[in-house]
Parts: sequence; C-alpha cells; structure tokens
Amino acid sequence: TADAALYFAKEQGRNNYQFFTYEMSIRAAERLATEQVLRAALDQSQFELCYQPQISMHTGQVSSVEALLRWRHPVRGLLHPAEFLPVAEDIGIMGELGDWVLRQACLQQKIWEKSGLPNTPIAINISPRQLRRFDFIRNINAIMQEMGLGAHSLQFELAENTIMVDGERRGGVLGALGQTGGDIVIDDFGTGYSNLGMLQRVPFYKLKVDISLIHDIGTNTDAEAVVKAMINLGKSLKLIVVAEGVETAEQWQFLLACGCDAAQGYYYCPPLSADEFEHWWRQHLREATS
Ligand code: C2E
Ligand code: MG
Ligand code: MG
Ligand code: MG
Repeated sequence: TADAALYFAKEQGRNNYQFFTYEMSIRAAERLATEQVLRAALDQSQFELCYQPQISMHTGQVSSVEALLRWRHPVRGLLHPAEFLPVAEDIGIMGELGDWVLRQACLQQKIWEKSGLPNTPIAINISPRQLRRFDFIRNINAIMQEMGLGAHSLQFELAENTIMVDGERRGGVLGALGQTGGDIVIDDFGTGYSNLGMLQRVPFYKLKVDISLIHDIGTNTDAEAVVKAMINLGKSLKLIVVAEGVETAEQWQFLLACGCDAAQGYYYCPPLSADEFEHWWRQHLREATS
C-alpha cells in the first residue's frame, strides 16, 4: 500500500518526515551506482595519498607527516576528501578505504626510511564511521604487525567531534587505539563540542588547533585570545600543540610567541604527491644543514 511506502527521514537534528517518492528511489539507484564507482576506484588504484609536513617550531625540522587522501578521478581530475568521503562513509566502504590508507602510508614510511630520510611518524585521519567498525582495532594491529611498525611510528588523527560524541563507548575504543602503539591526536580542535573532561581521561598525544581559528590571527583579536588559550590548555595537559592551516609569516610569528610546538600549512609546504614531498623534504634538510 501507499502507507507502507511512508518513509521517515531524520535530517540533521530536525524532524523532517518525507514520503518515499519516485525521486528517492532514483536517489537509491544513484547511491548504488556511486557505491560501484567507489569500489571500482579502489580496485583500479585511483586513490592516492598526498603528504604534508608538520614543522617543529623548536627545531625547524619535520616532526611528522600527515597523509591526506585524494581520488584521481579519470574524468573529474584530482578530488579532495570533501567531494567523496561523505558518500564513502555513507555506503560503508570507509573500512576498506581506511585500511588501504593505513597500509599505503606505512609502505611509504618504509620507503622513506630505507632511502635514508629521518625516521618520522606518519599521521593518518580516522573518520567516525571507521572508529565504529568492530574490526577497526584488529585491522590496525594486523597491518602494524605486517609492516613491522614500532611504537610512535603512527599517529591517528580524530576530529574533536569524533572523539567527544558518545563519551563512554568512544573511551573504550580510544583506549584500545592507544594500546596499538600509535599516538592519538585531536584534530580540528576548537570547532566541536569540547568535553574537556575527556581530555584528561584519554591519553592523547597531540592537539591540532583548527584552521578556522588560525586564519583569524592578525585580523581578529578575539580569535587570537582563543588560540592563545588553547595552546596554554594543551601545554598544561602536556600535549604537543600543532597549528593547522598556517599560511603567513605573521601567523607563524604569533604562534611561535604563544609557545606552539609545531605548524602545518601552505606557509611551509602544501600537501604534495609522495615524490614531490620527498623532493621538498631533501631540499629542506639541505637548507637546514647549509
Ligand atoms: P584535516 O585532517 O583537518 O586536514 C587538513 C586539511 O587542510 C587538508 O584538506 C589540507 O589539504 C588542508 N590544508 C593544509 N594546509 C592548509 C593551509 O595552509 N590552508 C588551507 N586553507 N588548507 C590547508 P584535505 O586534504 O582536503 O582534507 C580534508 C579533510 O578530509 C581532512 O581534514 C580530514 O578530516 C579528511 N581526510 C583526509 N584524508 C583522509 C583519510 O585518509 N581518511 C579519512 N577518514 N579522512 C581523511
Ligand atoms: Mg588531519
Ligand atoms: Mg584538521
Ligand atoms: Mg578536518
């Protein structure tokens, strides 16, 4: 009956009841098509990782390298996560994609290590959906063992919102994540709902101040005060504090004066392909010693 086709869709907190319509069945078909396209992209190696360094404000050296996912689409060109991750999350391919990212980042780390570059932690991003998978921790352990990775060679970046929602259950998986030997990083700090109590219950290693706050340095004194307070909070909890999206010398100087530990952003280096980044890194090492 028509009633049986009544469909409840809850949209972003608003109670939004919709009828299951012809349009929605089209959407379901599109979803299926997208799922097939994403799976094919994984099979056909269309995903790749870009790398961006975090620069220590104490030594000027690369203190860790973040792996950022890209999709080299045969027609649309190089796509950023914003253009495909929400769909990937939705159709449940994030587990496989996440495992691929982890394995690929570890392989790259091995390659750089063998080629004589300094042994440096690689940071990978973890989405909420990945964290919820029953085999998440098991896969990480398996891949780390397979790759022979020691403690502190990996960093897991989780957005503040991913961490803070649903405190208790997250506490369990975060504890297990800490047991893998990798270090846990709070990403996009300052944008979410902070359950500050969580900051002391979970053994976080690093805190990344969100781009949006860094961008207002130099133009908005309130934002500057917030950045300063966040750096102080991180430091007093003995966390390493990193600023994301640092684009100007002015931002760099401000952060340095605030005692920030490291910076990541276009000011030093944009995300680059593995080869380009290796080239940048060697150049950076030569400049430091000359
Ligand atoms: P994120 O982890 O907060 O990464 C920082 C984003 O800022 C990256 O965008 C990076 O390219 C960009 N960025 C770096 N420096 C600057 C700068 O100076 N100015 C500006 N305006 N932007 C800068 P990207 O690569 O598009 O990634 C967006 C988000 O997608 C990431 O945010 C992360 O949450 C997610 N993501 C990326 N790769 C992966 C992945 O492998 N797995 C998962 N689950 N999520 C990923
Ligand atoms: Mg990140
Ligand atoms: Mg971020
Ligand atoms: Mg982000």
